[in-house]
Amino acid sequence: MTATVTPTPALLGKSLEELTEWVKQQGQPAYRGKQLYQWLYHQGARSLESITVFPKAWRESLADYPVGRSQLHYQSLAPDGTRKYLLQLRDGLIIEAVGIPTAKRLTVCVSSQAGCPMDCNFCATGKGGFLRNLKRHEIIDQVLAVQEDFQRRVSHIVFMGMGEPLLNLPEVVPAIHSLNRDVGISQRAMTLSTVGLPGKIRQLAEHHLQVTLAVSLHASNQTLRQELIPSATKYPLPVLLTECRDYVEITGRRLSFEYILLARVNDFPEQARELARHFHGFQAHVNLIPYNPIPEVDYQRPSQERIETFRRILEQERVVVSVRYSRGLETDAACGQLRAAKSQRQDASAASNP
Ligand code: SAH
Repeated sequence: MTATVTPTPALLGKSLEELTEWVKQQGQPAYRGKQLYQWLYHQGARSLESITVFPKAWRESLADYPVGRSQLHYQSLAPDGTRKYLLQLRDGLIIEAVGIPTAKRLTVCVSSQAGCPMDCNFCATGKGGFLRNLKRHEIIDQVLAVQEDFQRRVSHIVFMGMGEPLLNLPEVVPAIHSLNRDVGISQRAMTLSTVGLPGKIRQLAEHHLQVTLAVSLHASNQTLRQELIPSATKYPLPVLLTECRDYVEITGRRLSFEYILLARVNDFPEQARELARHFHGFQAHVNLIPYNPIPEVDYQRPSQERIETFRRILEQERVVVSVRYSRGLETDAACGQLRAAKSQRQDASAASNP
């Protein structure tokens, strides 16, 4: 038998029962579990040392124990109120999360990976490559960081930050459960966005979550889709759409499609008609996302007129459609503009240039 060394797991992400078990293992009475739970999820404790209801000697002996909170490295504020956070993880990697306020909602756009391996050619995240999967506590922490900064409860979560969540289901699914159970956010107020990978949408369906699935389609046929999304080569459009239908059937949840609009690439009227044909007999909602510019590629956002024409054709074909303008464009906090960083140095100049 070989012994495997597992790193100390962070406390954030554990349920009340698991935390109670943990304090008992530490030789403490069970009620300390409830205190720990309260301080972790509702009082913003960043270390065990800061939990003043705990005995001093115990707190001090556990001062370095990983609670699971990341460090706020840098924050920017866009004129529309969107706030972007650069969070530094324990191993030094820097990831991004975005807080998007409206009168009634506070939405957090969370990252599920540092970087992304999918390499979609219109997205900034993929340009920096893939660094690693995020742990569940690193996902939950993003929500708590935004909630604390806004001093307001987060109402909605979208997994639309960096990374491909379906490549990190073993951490994303427990993070969703904890955000629901421990942070108190309804699963129905969470949206998970994916570019789709063979078998993965069905795998997600089997978790029977109540989240909304958003599938990044971006093209009306296989040829164009695999030009824009290299991974689509191994995932023919009809197979993807069949898995989407299965998802709706298995979960009883609705599903939406995202379609980034790139001028003179995928915004022609005949492409709108071709797109609509995929949805016959399918209760689909289509979100059109006008392209947000990134420096590495020279795509253009279509004119208002072309966006409207595309939308109208889908409506005429009885597809439920909306146009979603991303928030935070001015500070590179919008969809597709997030990037991971490997070292602090890279972002030090940004921090001095608010
Ligand atoms: N990997 C997941 C989630 C991250 S991207 C996915 O692909 O769905 C979240 C959304 O932002 C996706 O719909 C993605 O296609 C879109 N997006 C990426 N780059 C963009 C850009 N430059 N402008 C507008 N939307 C973009």
